[in-house]
Amino acid sequence: MDKLMLDGNAVAGLLQEVFAVEMTTAVGTCGGCGAAGPVGAIHVFRGAGIVLRCPRCGNTLAKIVKNDSRVWIDLTGIRTLEVTV
Ligand SMILES: [Zn+2]
Repeated sequence: MDKLMLDGNAVAGLLQEVFAVEMTTAVGTCGGCGAAGPVGAIHVFRGAGIVLRCPRCGNTLAKIVKNDSRVWIDLTGIRTLEVTV
């Protein structure tokens, strides 16, 4: 396992801050392979920002960059995101 890789639970606080709902149980569908699964199972890589990758095919699902006052989110690789409200 890559030392910089975690699972989706590692960004639970950040995602909850951005989306204001519980995100680890939200179900995302990969835009690359069509696999659907909970955000908590997504592979998370840390670097200059955070990259979320599909655990099945490695497709980049989302990129998140945050500073003290703003968050930039690229969700290009997620086909759908189903959240409980
Ligand atoms: Zn995939």
